[in-house]
Amino acid sequence: MIFDREHECMSRQDLRQLQEERLKALVKRVYDRVPFYRDLLDKSGATPEKVRSLDDLPRLPFTRKYNLRDEYPFGLFATPMKDVVRIHASSGTTGKPTTVGYTRSDVAMWAEVCARALACAGTTDEDTVQVAYGYGLFTGGLGAHYGAELIGSAVIPISGSNTQRQLMLMQDFGTTVLCCTPSFALYVWDVAQQLHLDVTKFPLRVGVFGAEPWSENMRRDIERKWNIKACDIYGLSEIIGPGVSCECVEAQSGLHLNDDHFLPEIVDPDTGEVRPEGEWGELVITTLTKEAFPLIRYRTGDITRLTSEPCICGRTNTRMDRIAGRTDDMLIIRGVNVFPSQVESVLLMSPQVEPHYRLLVSRKGALDNLDVQVEIAPSLYQEVSAGILSTDDVTTFTEHETLVGLKHNIQKNIKDIIGINVGVTFKEPGSIERAEGKAQRVIDLRKEQGDS
Ligand SMILES: [Zn+2]
Repeated sequence: MIFDREHECMSRQDLRQLQEERLKALVKRVYDRVPFYRDLLDKSGATPEKVRSLDDLPRLPFTRKYNLRDEYPFGLFATPMKDVVRIHASSGTTGKPTTVGYTRSDVAMWAEVCARALACAGTTDEDTVQVAYGYGLFTGGLGAHYGAELIGSAVIPISGSNTQRQLMLMQDFGTTVLCCTPSFALYVWDVAQQLHLDVTKFPLRVGVFGAEPWSENMRRDIERKWNIKACDIYGLSEIIGPGVSCECVEAQSGLHLNDDHFLPEIVDPDTGEVRPEGEWGELVITTLTKEAFPLIRYRTGDITRLTSEPCICGRTNTRMDRIAGRTDDMLIIRGVNVFPSQVESVLLMSPQVEPHYRLLVSRKGALDNLDVQVEIAPSLYQEVSAGILSTDDVTTFTEHETLVGLKHNIQKNIKDIIGINVGVTFKEPGSIERAEGKAQRVIDLRKEQGDS
């Protein structure tokens, strides 16, 4: 189902015209109403009368995460507080969070783009949608909730955690669509196995997974385990929350971006130069229609690429590739750029290991080391541990010839993709801590080693 055919299937030419009108109005609006932007636009020389078409976009200055922090809490709001009906905040890992505000019309637009996204993934008014994203200051839960309600689905606002209850309601209420992080979907599946539940018999048919980067192989793994179609949804609170883009269930090839509201660009993460369509780089978004918290050329920190090729589903909007990583998650190991998702894609190719892993980065002398710690599949664990009296005997366990061969294989495949040698350490099934939200995949010891 296409929720808003008029906007999701408009001709590229009409779209461009709409974007252009909206961009000009936006620049004028923030110049008049937000001192931060007036100052920034004056300094860069891109004042409203100089922005006449989309070609002028690269002349506009970037907005960065630290600008949001500097203007905490409401310095970037473009409307008086009496017009603000909702405030969300992102979980700042250090110090203050970043705050975002919505007018009544922003909330309506958000519901609309989330409805488009969920419909894109195959959700209809016949569906029962279990929203297992967190509700609260985090935008995930309420975004999916409002979108599903607008479609007319029956919404189960269970929020995150409570894994056993998730499974109980999934069965009892006949959930057909599950919204959560991909790592939580895998975690719930694990728990279902412990409870001896056959989830492939559940009426669940679609998963709308996001809020963390995941790979094509992880998708296949989730789809096989749950017997569902799994679609990737993307968003960030600074821009609106979920609903910026979502994959269609028909093609599962790139996320349809609601570019009548969110104008995308790809730039070189280092130089800020705009990159042509099809090239990888950092996603930059300008919010064309938001009232309370508009942003000009916001540097998302997410690495992807764009295409304007039409899709088999009939939508004509821009599609973005699944997020390959974050500019700030990017690890530099021996001078090479490494994204955790690249390692993940290799691990998920092997049925002998589980999608539970951790990347340990350390430094010995001048040399960076990356150790990939991954759990082996329970069946393989049984095989290799047979005959070993104590499983504490790590040496014996990992020296089993099957594991030595597997290790070489994984090392070779990782080297093929990222170009460096890494260590691989096998862990017992269940020994790597499970995440109920975003998984913590990387432990970088180089900072503690006083060397980074
Ligand atoms: Zn499509």
